[in-house]
Amino acid sequence: MSKLSIRDLSLNDRRVFMRVDFNVPMEDGRVMDDTRIRETLPTIEYALRHGARLILGSHLGRPKGKPNPKMSLKPAAERLRMLLDKELARGENVGFCPECVGMEAEEMAGKLEKGQTLLLENLRFHAEEEANDEKFSKQLASLADFYINDAFGTAHRAHASTVGMTKFMQKAAAGLLMEKELEYLGKALHHPERPFIAILGGAKVSDKIGVIHNLMDKVDALIIGGGMAYTFLKAHGEQVGKSLVEEDKVDLARQLLQEAKTRKLRFLLPTDHVVAEKIDVNAVVRTINSGNPIPANLMALDIGPKTIEAFSEEISRARTIVWNGPMGVFEVSPFSKGTFKIAHAIADNPGAISIVGGGDSVSAVHAAGVAEHITHISTGGGASLEFLEGKKLPGVEALTNK
Ligand code: AMP
Repeated sequence: MSKLSIRDLSLNDRRVFMRVDFNVPMEDGRVMDDTRIRETLPTIEYALRHGARLILGSHLGRPKGKPNPKMSLKPAAERLRMLLDKELARGENVGFCPECVGMEAEEMAGKLEKGQTLLLENLRFHAEEEANDEKFSKQLASLADFYINDAFGTAHRAHASTVGMTKFMQKAAAGLLMEKELEYLGKALHHPERPFIAILGGAKVSDKIGVIHNLMDKVDALIIGGGMAYTFLKAHGEQVGKSLVEEDKVDLARQLLQEAKTRKLRFLLPTDHVVAEKIDVNAVVRTINSGNPIPANLMALDIGPKTIEAFSEEISRARTIVWNGPMGVFEVSPFSKGTFKIAHAIADNPGAISIVGGGDSVSAVHAAGVAEHITHISTGGGASLEFLEGKKLPGVEALTNK
């Protein structure tokens, strides 16, 4: 990696500001899922073991620039205290500051001792955070000597805590989680073991056009499922009934199909479909076999058995697999099979490096019970998509070069 890593810094006795992603689901002041806190624990524990005076900053939800007690990070500090290695969490070692800038924050950060942690209140209680305001960035930067970014999920946003403050710090480096994300995604894009395949799904073609473009000259096969497949099938001249189609993207889809053909790239689309009149658990569900049109009153809501077989076959031969987006309306049981079967097919190829990103595909691998068989589950849906699009992530660019 061309950027500094936390491992390149000598942290002993230094005040270190770490941007983490503690944007966890919260209900009545309770953390409902602490996955994101646990993912960044290795970086936090690394800093504390190396003698840092650690200041943690994060956002939570969308408070729109105003304090909102429902989106306070205080419960996350409690949870961090429970999760941290007992040795590191002793006594007063994990504190919470009800502000993220200003006198109280400066005072509490100033009093921190080696091995102690202070979690600041939600950065987005200030509109200046998302506005990447310079004065606010300076205030945040004044709390510490070094900057670490371990919040891959917000690295595609240029905010005060991801970009603005870095230029006022002595050094800005990637945390261990950030490094891991960049390593896996970077290797897949630039030095993949082949065959390299990408599986894309979800509702909208428009969200993934950039990714398809960028991956076309990198992958050996592109598999498209989910709602977005039907814009391509329509472009191909098929009757897709009431299935999701982005009419204004049909021409573009046709061009992409043509480009794939010119490049001799395998471009797999669903050939059979699970259809219904509406998205409903109790809907009457049918399968439309390969070669048959989807009737005008029905919509395709999952990939059919032949498609599952063809996609799984392709997956079984791959050495690098990137997956983003469900194969159907997997939240509704009659339409979840395709997505879960694809999750299993990926897990059943232990020889491949598999990278899963995007909230839906990530929850699908967990729900399918195969998460431990995936090489890397990305913590950033939007950020991983932008990375796969070939875009530079502002939060990564802002880090100090090695
Ligand atoms: P996205 O945010 O674009 O990744 O889309 C995710 C959503 O796509 C999920 O909520 C799925 O329910 C939905 N989805 C997947 N396949 C279909 C489909 N065939 N028709 C309608 N919605 C779909």
